[in-house]
Amino acid sequence: MHKISDIVGQNDALKSLRGAISSANTAHAYLFVGPHGVGKKTTAMAWARALLCLNQGKGETTDACGVCTTCQKINKNNYPDLHIVAPETGKNQTLKQIGVDTTRDLINKLSFKPYVSSRTVAIIKEAEKMTAGAANAFLKTLEEPPGDSVVMLVSENYNALLPTIISRCQTIRFRPAPYETIVQYLTNNHGMEQKQARARAAISRGSLGTAIRETGDELLGLRNQIISMIEKPDKLASIKIHTIAKAMDKSKDKTETDRFLSVFQELLRDLLIIKTTGMYDNLINMDITDQIGEIAERHSERKLLNGFTLAGDLIETRRTWNINPLLVVSLLLQEFNV
Ligand SMILES: [Zn+2]
Repeated sequence: MHKISDIVGQNDALKSLRGAISSANTAHAYLFVGPHGVGKKTTAMAWARALLCLNQGKGETTDACGVCTTCQKINKNNYPDLHIVAPETGKNQTLKQIGVDTTRDLINKLSFKPYVSSRTVAIIKEAEKMTAGAANAFLKTLEEPPGDSVVMLVSENYNALLPTIISRCQTIRFRPAPYETIVQYLTNNHGMEQKQARARAAISRGSLGTAIRETGDELLGLRNQIISMIEKPDKLASIKIHTIAKAMDKSKDKTETDRFLSVFQELLRDLLIIKTTGMYDNLINMDITDQIGEIAERHSERKLLNGFTLAGDLIETRRTWNINPLLVVSLLLQEFNV
């Protein structure tokens, strides 16, 4: 189980949280917001442990000790003063959400005196999935939380949260971790070679979670196939890409097409930056800047811009319409005359 000191690349967020513990000035409601996979949930758990740890306040540390009975029980998901809520599928529903019943149950649990600790802590994952009813039911608890309780709402979709919820929480922002921080973490903690670490860090877009999981390798494979297609647009590349599209079409996981589109769009973004500014500093695909530079030379600015815009349009359209992956890929290939 992670401690606060294990969290990587989120210094600003951790500074606020550590400050709150060391000054014993903890707010009652926090909102952890930021992109996917940057450590929001891990931090929420680590901070909950630090808030509840029996050795909190002893010595200089603002972290959980990891060895007291409280820390051990939390690690075993067996601690009565920590409540974790996540969206679930209710009766006759396909969408996962946090409903009124779940929220009322949590409000009830928070109203009891803590059993062991001096406070009760609750974590609400994917808080934007609270129904309007659930969110409204929770407003009063956020405003006047019972006892010394601390509630953490976690979300990667700030805009989907009710303003009345946001205004009652102290917002802690999580940002993509710096590229070099991720490279260093992968080489030091996962024994990766420099080349692989740089590629994984680039494709992860600042998400350490993506960088360390297999998703990282899948995304890299996808990126390399897209590169081979726009590097040398020919029939063979086209066949390869169509094979990927067919696999995406068959896959139940519809996010694969979205991943393809975002990797495609990021590549075109980098190509456009090089084409228009000649600068190599702010690229996403930091590990292959030379290769991207060569591709940029081969395509016109107009073609790159059209491809970039089309990828963006397709991403936007897919939010409401389920466009067939084969169509998505064909449209993008046409742009490059394959
Ligand atoms: Zn402890």
